[in-house]
This record gives sequence, structure tokens and C-alpha cells, in this order.
Amino acid sequence: MKNPAAQPSSLPALRLEQALQLLAHSGLPAPGDVAQAAGLQALIDALVELSSRDALTGLANRRAFDLAVLREIDRVARSGEPALLLALDIDHFKRINDRHGHAAGDRVLSAVAAALIESVRPMDLVARVGGEEFAIILPNCASSFGQTVAERVRRRIQSLSVEIGPDLSIAVTASVGGAYAPQWVRTTPALWIERADQQLYLAKGQGRNLVRLEPSAMSVVSNEERRALFETSQFQDLE
Ligand code: GH3
Ligand code: MG
Ligand code: MG
Repeated sequence: MKNPAAQPSSLPALRLEQALQLLAHSGLPAPGDVAQAAGLQALIDALVELSSRDALTGLANRRAFDLAVLREIDRVARSGEPALLLALDIDHFKRINDRHGHAAGDRVLSAVAAALIESVRPMDLVARVGGEEFAIILPNCASSFGQTVAERVRRRIQSLSVEIGPDLSIAVTASVGGAYAPQWVRTTPALWIERADQQLYLAKGQGRNLVRLEPSAMSVVSNEERRALFETSQFQDLE
């Protein structure tokens, strides 16, 4: 049998050095012999992992988040299971940078990231989607449970004391907005994210360090989503 990693003479040689350097720098385990199929696959897996992670916090990055939102919308539309999207933004983060420096700000970001991971289930996806902005996708989250989990996340951040120097620790808070993906109706990533963001802006406007959730998924289905339902519906076949 042919070795699948062997390169036909018509193909240019793979330039692997930079990829291997990136992996070594990021602390991911080095793949085996990349001249073998298994080693090459391990290299590809490691690069996929690297391109899905935020370098500072280790959370899923914006790219991985966007894909996960699409997947979740698909699942909700097929199964009707409720899914909650939380949008979080650290309060007055600029002040932390201004008063204590960028390195202190980075420490706060890492501490908040770890706190988020600790306050949700392993099946939930926690992402850093912007500078001091995070998002959490919670699949199969009953609407009666949304407020409880969002409050738990907010309180966990509030309870942090982030060490930024030998004798200096600082407190941090975040505002949280949340929205459910409408069940049985295919929403779009932009609409779902916008809804969670609108709630986040409410939380900011009403004083920060607050949770605001959209009241109920079905009551707020937009015209665009209704149209999408009929565009993809089985009834089209009957026309
Ligand atoms: P608000 O409560 O309204 O959210 O106020 P804020 O100060 O948190 O919001 P603003 O958007 O004004 O500030 C966000 C700051 O985040 C500005 C930017 O310099 C900082 N920032 C963005 N990315 C990073 C990063 O990777 N590290 C650090 N240390 N700071 C960052
Ligand atoms: Mg912000
Ligand atoms: Mg902020």
C-alpha cells in the first residue's frame, strides 16, 4: 500500500518548520514523525486546536465561537432543545488598564476566563470574543434555569480577587446579557448574538454587575426568523 504521507514528485515540498515552531511556542505537544500519515494528522489536529484558541486565556476564540453558534442553531432547530447564549463584558476594564497597567489587565482577563470555565458545565462553550468580552453557549439549558446559571457566573466573577502585584489584589465585576435561541425556528448567528448583546447593554445601562435575560424565546421571534421557518419548511414541497 502507498504511504499516504509520501509526496508525489509533482507536489512542492511541505514547509513545516514554521508550523512546528508555532506549536513548540504554544506549548502544545509536538507531533510524531510528520513524514508518516499519523504524524501529519497529529500536526493538522494541533494546528486546528491552535487556531481555535485565544492565546491569552486559552478559551475558544472568535473563530471557534462563530462555528459553535452555527452548530448550536442547527441543533436547536432540529431537536427543539432550548439553548442559551450569554454575552459578558467586564465592567470599567479600561480603568483597570489605566490604573494598574496592561499586564494587570491581562491577569484579570485570565482570571475571569478561569472563573467562567469553573462556573459552567463541560458541555458549555466559553469563548473570548473580543478584548474584554466573553460569550458562553449553553446547549440544552431549560428557560427556568437561565437566570440561575447567569447569576452564578456573575457572582463567581464578583468573588474574584485578582493578584496583580506582591501586595495588591483587585476586584472585578462583569455585566451579563442572555438570550435563548428560538426553538423550532432557525435563527441566524447575527440575530441571536444581537439579542444577547441588547440584554448586555441593558445590564450596563442599569448600573453594571447585573444580569439581564430576554424574557422568553418564543415571544420574541422576529419576522426574519418567521420567514426563515417558512422558507425551509416542508410545506414548500406541497406548493
Ligand atoms: P464598560 O463597563 O462600559 O464595559 O467600560 P470598559 O472600560 O470595560 O469598556 P471599554 O470598551 O471602554 O474598554 C475596554 C478596554 O479593554 C479598552 C482596551 O484597551 C482593553 N483591552 C482590549 N483587549 C485587551 C487585552 O488583550 N489586554 C488588556 N490588558 N486590555 C485589553
Ligand atoms: Mg467592551
Ligand atoms: Mg467593558
